[in-house]
Amino acid sequence: DAESNTSKTYVIGTDITFAPFEFQDVNGDFVGIDMDLLDAIAKDQNFKYEIKALGFNAAVQALESNQVDGVIAGMSITDERKQKFDFSDSYFDSGVVMGVSANNDTVKSYEDLRGKKVAVKTGTEGYTFAESIASKYGFTIVPFDDSSQMYDDVKTGNSVACFEDYPVLAYGVKQNNGLKTVTEPEIGGSYGFAVSKGKNQELLQMFNDGLTNIKANGEYKRITETYVGENA
Ligand code: GLN
Repeated sequence: DAESNTSKTYVIGTDITFAPFEFQDVNGDFVGIDMDLLDAIAKDQNFKYEIKALGFNAAVQALESNQVDGVIAGMSITDERKQKFDFSDSYFDSGVVMGVSANNDTVKSYEDLRGKKVAVKTGTEGYTFAESIASKYGFTIVPFDDSSQMYDDVKTGNSVACFEDYPVLAYGVKQNNGLKTVTEPEIGGSYGFAVSKGKNQELLQMFNDGLTNIKANGEYKRITETYVGENA
C-alpha cells in the first residue's frame, strides 16, 4: 500500500563511472542524468532511496539476486534481460559505437581490427556486440569492469578500440577523454530502470508515473539539457 511504499528506503544499484549518466562530482557526490532523474522521480512520487554504486555488471547481478531493489545505470532494455527483469518505460535512446585513441589514424572500420585487441566492459551491450563480430573481423576481446579502465586500455595502446554506448562515448570525447569515434553507432536498446521480474512492482509503477510527470512539467528536459544540452 501507499504508506509502506513511502516508509521504505529502496536500495538502487548503479554503475561506478558512466558519465553523463552517473559519475562523481568534485565533492564525491554521484551526479548525472540517471541520478538526477531518479531524484526528481522520487520527489514527485514521494519515495526514499539509497544509491549503491557497485559497477554495472555487479549492479545487474545484485538485482538478479535481490540484493538491491532496482538498477538505474544506463541499462539497455533488451529481450534477453526481460527474461529476468521488468523494465520501466525507456527514458533515453542509445546504441553501441566503436572508440579508438584520438591519435589513431589507422583504425577506421571493423576491418582494421584484424589480429588486434579490443577492450570491452563485462556484462554490457557493447561486449555482446563486440563478441558477435569478433570472429568475422578476427579480433580478440579484453574485458574490463568499468568504462574508465576500458578507455585506459585503448589510450595506452594495448587495445586498439573499445565498444561503448554512443551517448557516453560522445560525452567523453567532448570532455577530451583521449578517444574519438570513427564509425556510425549500431542500433541499440534504449535505457530503462529495472527491477527483478515480478518484484518491486510498486517501485516500477512509481518510476513510470514520476517519469511521465517530469516529462510533462519540463524537469526531464532541464535535467538532460544540463548534461547533454547545447551549452553543456
Ligand atoms: N547500456 C549498456 C548496457 O546496458 C551499458 C551500461 C553501462 O555500462 N552502464 O549493457
